[in-house]
Amino acid sequence: MSDKTLFQKIIDREIPADIIYEDDLCCAFNDISPKAPVHVLIVPRKPIPRVGDAVAEDQAQLGALLLAAGKIAEKLGVKDRSKGFRLVINQGADAGETVPHMHVHLLAGRELAWPPG
Ligand code: AMP
Repeated sequence: MSDKTLFQKIIDREIPADIIYEDDLCCAFNDISPKAPVHVLIVPRKPIPRVGDAVAEDQAQLGALLLAAGKIAEKLGVKDRSKGFRLVINQGADAGETVPHMHVHLLAGRELAWPPG
């Protein structure tokens, strides 16, 4: 049985997803259950389970996620300050983590409440 994470299977094209961005270090696709008009998941190719598990050698992977977020926001037309976007990383049960392969949520396309629920 494969021990790949769900998101690893998406990255490897074993499970279909709407992939909108890829580079050497990360892959991004639309969330299957969007919480905003724009809801993209940006995932490192390396299956780091969650941000708290990242180590020093993951620095480039972690940086790539934020650089990709800026590129994706520009591509989707939500980068300028009059619109804008939010990045979220959930770790653990209290934060609502459900997939143990680190990912950054990029949310946009509507006004986002603060503080979050
Ligand atoms: P989190 O709760 O922070 O771990 O986020 C996991 C996200 O993955 C949720 O927003 C889910 O809607 C999303 N998700 C789960 N399965 C898929 C899938 N097959 N394709 C795209 N997004 C998914």
